Amino acid sequence: MSVSMQCTLAKEVTASGIGLHSGKNVEMKIMPAPVDTGIVFCRSDLAHKPSARVTPQVVEISPLCTKVLSGEVDISTVEHLMAAFYGAGVDNAIVEVSASELPVFDGSSAAFLMLIDSVGVQKQSKPKRVIKVMKEVIVEDGDKIAMLKPDDHFSLTLELDFKHPVIPHQKCKFDGRPSYFRKELARARTFAMQRDVEKMQSMGLALGGGLDNAIVVGDFSVLNAEGLRHKDEFIRHKALDCIGDLFMVGHPILGAFVGSYTGHAMNNKLLCALMADENNYRFVEIPDTNDIYSSDAF
Ligand SMILES: [Zn+2]
Repeated sequence: MSVSMQCTLAKEVTASGIGLHSGKNVEMKIMPAPVDTGIVFCRSDLAHKPSARVTPQVVEISPLCTKVLSGEVDISTVEHLMAAFYGAGVDNAIVEVSASELPVFDGSSAAFLMLIDSVGVQKQSKPKRVIKVMKEVIVEDGDKIAMLKPDDHFSLTLELDFKHPVIPHQKCKFDGRPSYFRKELARARTFAMQRDVEKMQSMGLALGGGLDNAIVVGDFSVLNAEGLRHKDEFIRHKALDCIGDLFMVGHPILGAFVGSYTGHAMNNKLLCALMADENNYRFVEIPDTNDIYSSDAF
């Protein structure tokens, strides 16, 4: 049986868009990279173009997003692109950005995925390395819990409770296959409470944030004229975020993720805990099919 090989983009692709924090235009270029490069972020606007490879250790959590912070490299809102890399099967790429944040596009992974699909991905000469969870790893903080358990398939079980009339308490299990992500999760947008957006903007934050790139939730209704893309779009976006956060480890994960009221900070703590002990995981090669990431039982 043939094994799944590492992949990169078939050629480079460029795009520009508004940055969530600055509200200013940001240029982005995603380029092919050799085997075992991983995902590397680079600041094209700084002298000598400093770069950093994504690992759980370079992740910094800000109130609004996940950022890559290593030396001079400081790039915010990377999680939706990381989820798109996972969904497209990309293991190796260099991402050049002309500012300290990625374009936010529509607040989901859809535009990133479309960009990658527009040039296609190319199989490379070494097998893909997948992290198989061998022991249960759990991190807790009050009632927040994030956990990875051994399983033959990648799945995400999530529970959220914002205690808000517009966002219901929900618990869902999602298939973790790239094919499922592409079809069911990639278009789910980020969301924010209207009162929080107003507060942040008065502090000079989230200046690019608005109805074009987030679901904005008022006290009693969603304010976007077009409504929701899925009736459970909020928890689907949380699943998208978890997929992006987990891919910061640089490899797909084979195991069951369980998160209650979890977010970027807890997900990063979980990855650090997973990788802190070599008995928790091992690298495996997988058959050349997406189906190994999940079961047909969903
Ligand atoms: Zn998000």
